[in-house]
Amino acid sequence: MIGSKLPRVGTTIFTRMSALASECDAINLSQGFPDFDAPQALREALGEHAMAGHNQYAPMAGVPALRQQIAAQLDLYRGVHCDPEQEITVVPGATEGIFCAVTACVHPGDEVIVFDPCYDSYEPAIELAGGRAVHVPLDPLDFSINWQKVTDALTPRTRMIIINSPHNPTGSTLSHADLLQLESLAEQHNLLVVSDEVYEHLVYDGQPHHSVLQFEALRQRSFALFSFGKTFSVTGWKTGYCVAPPKLTAELRKVHQFVCFVAVTPVQMALADFMRDAPDYPGSLAAFYQGKRDLFCTMLQGSRFTLRPSSGTYFQLLDYREISALPDTRLCEDWTREHGVASIPISVFYQSPPLDQHYLRFCFAKSDALLRHAAEILCEI
Ligand code: PMP
Ligand code: GLN
Repeated sequence: MIGSKLPRVGTTIFTRMSALASECDAINLSQGFPDFDAPQALREALGEHAMAGHNQYAPMAGVPALRQQIAAQLDLYRGVHCDPEQEITVVPGATEGIFCAVTACVHPGDEVIVFDPCYDSYEPAIELAGGRAVHVPLDPLDFSINWQKVTDALTPRTRMIIINSPHNPTGSTLSHADLLQLESLAEQHNLLVVSDEVYEHLVYDGQPHHSVLQFEALRQRSFALFSFGKTFSVTGWKTGYCVAPPKLTAELRKVHQFVCFVAVTPVQMALADFMRDAPDYPGSLAAFYQGKRDLFCTMLQGSRFTLRPSSGTYFQLLDYREISALPDTRLCEDWTREHGVASIPISVFYQSPPLDQHYLRFCFAKSDALLRHAAEILCEI
């Protein structure tokens, strides 16, 4: 018999809920992806590069023109200078980049601090590296980090902290003060940081995104991960990048070259063209998605849900305690079948889910018409 290396892992909740939504012909607000298309120029560029014969392996670290554009955007949006040669690696999705960063640095017996509710790909990567995830719960009301709890969770074996801001599944964001706390803890205890910033451009209400790259001491010990899937509405292109100082980048690439070797060539070239021609595009996303968040939240005002508008990501949590006492895992399935709206339960992202929590996560990266339709149904429940 095969002794499973991941005995507790099954098929992800995103795959299962999207399959159920499609089986029930339900409105799918579960798995996070837009129901509208990527910019036309970007899609055309992909076709052009494929037709022009750019279909063989790219350089291992990524197409140089794309790495240059990434560096230009980091400068423009975050005010940081990065060396495309030594600090930027294009990866086939942030998931792969996170896996490579963890695998490259976590040794058997190491502990890695993660925050619950925790994005599902982190812990399997830690476990496969022989490490142990130490789960620190976020505040149950506003999903902020309690830094005292983090300090209490540190041991001599703590090697890494994984943060995610804007945060999936709760839509919370870390503040400037949070990153200063992280910087000082990481320095004091010699920790590495993996910073999952795939929703960097989706921060609302005029707030800035705070990147680990903007804190010099933190940057020296961090892998920052980004995803073109979120920024350019191409989740199916599975392309992102990792920014890390040269020594960390070298270790990441050692793993990356044997996990995937390279990301897809014509996709990288199309992204490079689009970023060169439309550098302002990412800056338009916050207003665009905030409009969708506000539409969805406003429409739900007359419902029996309670909510606090997300400060980032394209996810909105709805508290259903006034409607049902059923567990979220059961309710999201029932509602997909009975009401035709699919969502994601958040208890599955906890090691020990809080007993009195009743949240479902809804993706609002959808057309206004679909959001209106979904909200009308939810208002009837
Ligand atoms: N991290 C978080 C928090 C995410 O929500 C997602 C994506 N859906 C990823 C990482 C993975 O991004 P990618 O599709 O580029 O692998
Ligand atoms: N990150 C996406 C979400 O949160 C899903 C990605 C996936 O299916 N692995 O919905």
